[in-house]
Amino acid sequence: MIGGSLRRADRSPEGRPRPAAAGATGLTEQPGPATDPHVQDPRIYVGRFAPSPTGPLHLGSLVAAVGSFVDARHHGGKWLVRIEDLDTTRVVPGCSDSILRTLENFGLWWDGAVEYQSRQTERYTHALESLQSRGLTFECSCSRREASNTGDTGYPGTCRGGPTQPGPTATRFRIPDVADMRFEDLVQGPCEFESRSLGDFIIRRRDRVLAYQLAVVVDDARQGITDVIRGADLLASTAWQIVLQRALGCATPRYGHLPLVVEPQRGKLSKSRRAVAVDTRGAAPQLIAALQLLQHAPPGELERASPSELLAWAANVWSLHRLHGLREVRPPS
Ligand SMILES: [Zn+2]
Repeated sequence: MIGGSLRRADRSPEGRPRPAAAGATGLTEQPGPATDPHVQDPRIYVGRFAPSPTGPLHLGSLVAAVGSFVDARHHGGKWLVRIEDLDTTRVVPGCSDSILRTLENFGLWWDGAVEYQSRQTERYTHALESLQSRGLTFECSCSRREASNTGDTGYPGTCRGGPTQPGPTATRFRIPDVADMRFEDLVQGPCEFESRSLGDFIIRRRDRVLAYQLAVVVDDARQGITDVIRGADLLASTAWQIVLQRALGCATPRYGHLPLVVEPQRGKLSKSRRAVAVDTRGAAPQLIAALQLLQHAPPGELERASPSELLAWAANVWSLHRLHGLREVRPPS
C-alpha cells in the first residue's frame, strides 16, 4: 500500500520540519504546536483516535487507542474520536457503533462529539480544489499495477504531463523536488524518507473517493490536533501527510508511532488473528494486557481495578520514553 521506503536517520536532523503558518487556508482553528516536538505545552494538547469501521477493534487497535488516550490524559489534553469511514465500499454496517461501545466499555471516554469523515467530504473537495488550482496535482490514468510496479521507488511520474491513456483518472499530488523528508517522531526518534521514494501519491482515487491522506490532513488541521499518537503501520504515511500540510498551509502536529502488535512466534499478526474482536466482557484484563504491551504493566495491587482506575494510574505514570525505538511488541504466547 505504501510505496515509500523508510530508513532511520543515523544522525540528529538539522532540517527538522517546522509547522507552516496556521490559518493560511482557514483550515486551522487554533495556533500550531511548538516547533520542538519534545516540548509539550499542556495548555495546548488535542489528541485523537481515528478508527476505520471496517471490522471490530482488535488488540493492535486497542493498544493504539489506549496509547493515544493515556498520552492525552497525561498531558491534561483533549482526546477526540473520528470515524474514518470515507471509503464507503469498505465500511461494515454497525461497525462504528460497535467500536464506540467497545471504547466506552474500556473507559476510553472521548471529548466532544464523534466526527465522521463521510459527513465532511465538502471540506476535502475544497482542499483538493485548492491544490488543483495551484498546479500541485495531475490526473493519472495508470492502473494500480502500472503505478506500483516500480520496486522501491515511488510512482515514476508517468502521467505528470497528462494522462497517458483514455478513461477514468485518479488525481495525484505532485511531490515537490526537494530535499529528503525528515521528522522527529516522539517514539521512533528521527525518521527520514528519500523524496524519490515518496512518489506522487493519490489524493483522489479513480472511483472519485477522496484518499485517506488528504482527508486526514484536512481533519487534523480543522480539529486542531496537536499530537498524533498511533500505530507504527502509519509511520510511512506521515511523510506524505507532512508534505500535504505544507502545501495546504496547515500546522504539523507532533507524531508518535507506537510499536505494532505482532504474533508471539512469527512475524506480523495475520489478517485473521488481527481481526479477533476485543472481548468486551473482560475489559480490565485486556486493558492490563494492552498496558503491558505499551511497557506500562500495572502493579499487582491493581489486578482487580476497574478500567477507569487502570487508565487513571497509567495517565499518572505515563512516559513515551519507555517505548523509545520499539517498532514491534509481542503478546505472551
Ligand atoms: Zn499515471
